[in-house]
Amino acid sequence: MNNEELRKKVDRLIEKIEIPPNRDRKCLYCGKSFYAHNLSQLSCSENCYQSYYNERKRPLKELEKLLAKLKAEQDAMDEIKRSQNTNENILRRNIEIIDHLTIDPLVGTQYDEDSLTKLGIDFAVYDFREKVPNTLNSFELVIGTYRLTLIDPKKLLIKNNSQQ
Ligand SMILES: [Zn+2]
Repeated sequence: MNNEELRKKVDRLIEKIEIPPNRDRKCLYCGKSFYAHNLSQLSCSENCYQSYYNERKRPLKELEKLLAKLKAEQDAMDEIKRSQNTNENILRRNIEIIDHLTIDPLVGTQYDEDSLTKLGIDFAVYDFREKVPNTLNSFELVIGTYRLTLIDPKKLLIKNNSQQ
């Protein structure tokens, strides 16, 4: 033990002697004054402590447990809602962007994939993704009433199903 540790220990002992813990207390259940025979004693009697525990501490613990559970469930619900909302919002935005494009009602209109991405379309969010029949690896994306087909590595044909 070095000098500093020794001095701290001495200081703590002096403090204990000069400021002894208050043993004249009020019972936490009935409020009666009592003298604490040991420092952890909080009630005037074992009966009072039992009553205090049964009537206040235990219900409080149960309440805290239930509130924590409720909060955890609420947090999980919020998280699910957030992720759903995010996808819903992106999908809505995709549809809004395509709504503003000029699309030939009969044969559809070709658009450059990069320019669509620049407009803000997120191709990762769609309603359905379907394989194009008689092709090896071509897919169509269904976004709202629109059908987007990759016809060239960088070109998409957009048709509006509702106008067919
Ligand atoms: Zn008491």
